[in-house]
Amino acid sequence: MYDVKKIRDDFPILGRTVYGKPLVYFDNAATTQKPRMVVDSIANEYYSVNANVHRGVHFLSQQATDLHEEAREKVRAFINAKKTDEIIFTRGTTEAINLLVDSFGNEFMSEGDEVIISAMEHHSNIVPWQILAAKRGISIRVIPINDTGELLLDEYEKLFTERTKIVSITQVSNVLGTINPVKQIIAIAHSHNIPVLIDGAQSVPHMKVDVQDMDADFFAFSGHKVYGPTGIGVLYGKENWLDRLPPYQGGGEMIQSVSFEKTIFEKLPFKFEAGTPDYIGTNGLAKAIDYISTLGMENIATYEHELTQYAMQRMKEIPGMRIYGEATDKGSVISFLVGNIHHLDMGTLLDRLGIAVRTGHHCAQPLMIRLGVEGLVRASFGLYNTKEEVDTLIAGILRISTMFN
Ligand code: PMP
Repeated sequence: MYDVKKIRDDFPILGRTVYGKPLVYFDNAATTQKPRMVVDSIANEYYSVNANVHRGVHFLSQQATDLHEEAREKVRAFINAKKTDEIIFTRGTTEAINLLVDSFGNEFMSEGDEVIISAMEHHSNIVPWQILAAKRGISIRVIPINDTGELLLDEYEKLFTERTKIVSITQVSNVLGTINPVKQIIAIAHSHNIPVLIDGAQSVPHMKVDVQDMDADFFAFSGHKVYGPTGIGVLYGKENWLDRLPPYQGGGEMIQSVSFEKTIFEKLPFKFEAGTPDYIGTNGLAKAIDYISTLGMENIATYEHELTQYAMQRMKEIPGMRIYGEATDKGSVISFLVGNIHHLDMGTLLDRLGIAVRTGHHCAQPLMIRLGVEGLVRASFGLYNTKEEVDTLIAGILRISTMFN
């Protein structure tokens, strides 16, 4: 039984008010709220364990190291990677993608080589490639979308050339909610012997992810979007790829030995983890994974799917409603505009009613251009949202629409 009332009790922030109204938090695609057990684990580790990892022979250091490495194993099991060595801790999805682009780009790409991305990418899967393009003269090819917000797979197939070196695609769009058929996308790339990086920032919080089943070569996600702390994220990579990639940053922790003549780098995963890692964050992430695993990813997905279906249906009752992203396979994100009400006005007025939504370009300006809009309002749901909250949103939008008319 999915008991959302009981679940909400685990998130103290959900009990607060905003402008005297009960908070309705619908900005989960930007970041999620944290269950008490995650926040407690962070405080407890600082209070009772804190010491730098991998270095000290002393008790606390070993205990902190154990927690940190147990977290790596927890992440491995959570996304079903084959080995813990394939789990690299980063600051988030953005850093994970930058790491891969920099390292892969330096090793395997030269002038004229190509990366394939899509029209619905977040800036964090566009700009790093552009930086590489400016440095090394690579070019970026873009899979177009149709008007319902789905990738055109026939066009994707046509983008492969002998200069294609990698494909980098989001699993779920943070704007359209589209769930891309990544297994098929990866299989097509592999038929050309091309590796694929999947941006899992918006998929991992909402569905069961199995990197071996989808056969991703690289996979990135952020802790803060999956009910864990900020500042921690993951890059997964197949061992045979990571072994061939050069380090991203240099420093402590990532070396076996250093002399002024020669440095020998550490083995995986430490080769990619220069400096003191966020070992408090990794343990916090592990606790978040414990939390959602206890609820069950399938149960979360079913619950959120039903909630989103309900919200989509209610949204369509609103006169002048335009929803952006109506893919058959859609996650718990609804982007919209009503009549000619500016997205910022809608967001600001909803906020006054205690409803937190996102407005603007959602770090996907090329997608805004494709959709022919300057910005959108986005409501995105998490495992603790309810139909009553959706009703509050609908009533709020109706009230604002009436004001403008
Ligand atoms: N990719 C997608 C699809 C996202 O939605 C986001 C966050 N909005 C990111 C990447 C970047 O994640 P982070 O800011 O946590 O690095």
